[in-house]
Amino acid sequence: MKTFILALDQGTTSSRAIIFDRHGKAISSAHKEFRQIFPRPGWVEHDPVEIWESQKEVALRAVRKAGLKSGQIESIGITNQRETTILWDRKTGNPVHNAIVWQCRRTADICKALYADGKGEVIRDKTGLILDAYFSATKIKWILDRMPGLRARAERGEICFGTVDSWLLFNLTGKHFTDVTNASRTMLFNILTGKWDNELLNIFGVPEKILPEVKPSSGFFANTRKEIFGFEIPVGGVAGDQQASLFGQACFSSFSAKNTYGTGCFMLVNTGRKPVFSENRVLTTIAWDIGDGMEYALEGSVFTGGAVIKWLRDSLKILKVAADSEKMAKQVSDTGGVYFVPAFSGLGAPYWAPEVRGSIFGITGGTTPEHIARAALESIAFQSRDLIGCIQGDIGRKIKSLKVDGGASVNNFLMQYQADILGIPVVRSAVPETTALGAAYFAGLSCGYWESKKDIEKNWRSDSIFKPSISSYERESRMTMWKKAVKTASEFV
Ligand code: ADP
Repeated sequence: MKTFILALDQGTTSSRAIIFDRHGKAISSAHKEFRQIFPRPGWVEHDPVEIWESQKEVALRAVRKAGLKSGQIESIGITNQRETTILWDRKTGNPVHNAIVWQCRRTADICKALYADGKGEVIRDKTGLILDAYFSATKIKWILDRMPGLRARAERGEICFGTVDSWLLFNLTGKHFTDVTNASRTMLFNILTGKWDNELLNIFGVPEKILPEVKPSSGFFANTRKEIFGFEIPVGGVAGDQQASLFGQACFSSFSAKNTYGTGCFMLVNTGRKPVFSENRVLTTIAWDIGDGMEYALEGSVFTGGAVIKWLRDSLKILKVAADSEKMAKQVSDTGGVYFVPAFSGLGAPYWAPEVRGSIFGITGGTTPEHIARAALESIAFQSRDLIGCIQGDIGRKIKSLKVDGGASVNNFLMQYQADILGIPVVRSAVPETTALGAAYFAGLSCGYWESKKDIEKNWRSDSIFKPSISSYERESRMTMWKKAVKTASEFV
């Protein structure tokens, strides 16, 4: 009887389930979008019940499609949108508030006050994170402070907190656990000791009793309740989406790197057993613990990546579909001197300027939609080059190659331009779903389905390798112009 691993990939806009075989090949999948709730400008929520119901539905659909019976799924791996915060009643399992999504800015003022109070440094030293509304801690505080009687109930142990992995696990198994990667994004977890940190809990006013038990990313968590699939399945892997993608890309050695090109871009560089603290405000995060101790990564993000292409399609309407951007970019030999700084929601590392807005420079009467489309794609590559520059500064060495995945990584023009502007090979994974695959690998390692990282390395395949094709002089002169464009845009506030 052939056996498989089921990966649950709970993202910001949809829930996905994919079943993988021993070669890392997807044999069945299903996905479902769910509601985005915007109660006020800048606020984002999800309904936790919808998250769970949609995830359960796609898991069942994927299993049914593949016609699998009891015993044919050796383990389940969970990967998830990170930082999103859910509080629920321990007894009934009912959420006490909607999930506050990572994008939600409602706690920006709490962060400002804590920053003014001088708390930024200790938070940075213990969590590797920048004090920001993005992470879970202030979101928990916000719910506890706003809902009458909730804090007292939380202190009595009647309330559970969890990120989405933890919420799914609770619904699947009845147990209240999380893994080190998700814990490392809450801003309550000390990434050096690998434990919840009392000083941080005090800073954010979070009672210890609401916290899940933290486990390695790969290892036995618990069995699913029998009524869900009709038989029990062990959950053996849990990790946040970007860490799962780093693992799915087999970036196991120190200084191996991946970039995921989605709405934004997420660049993670493995730094091995040693956490590296950035001088450039790049985040330090736990990459994983597969049962033999924590490993770390540096993480930087581009806020507006593929989203700039979506904007050309939906707002400017110069593209019918995102893929047209590639055809258009190739119709012109350059941007005709146009530089596009897509700071729709500010600029991240190394600029950290949330107030900056987007600009397009160098337009003439001869500028065409093709030039704009090309400049938009180039901007994704330039921003990723800026990030790698920061990370290289922090690790004190050059990254040798970059593995890539994500929706916009199918764009060959973008990938070639990325290689040109980085001056290193860009290697695209043959499996587009590296996040789900990473979750499957964590789960599969826990039960011996795959024996070691070597099996995973053997499975890893590239679909294309893009090699740099311009001179270093050309590269530097384009980067100089890009930096000039960013500087000018930054002054327009
Ligand atoms: P997410 O997981 O963040 O929702 P995806 O990995 O699904 O994102 O990628 C979707 C993003 O990639 C969208 O912003 C879209 O505009 C962009 N995108 C999709 N296809 C292409 C393409 N061929 N060229 C450039 N951008 C693309």
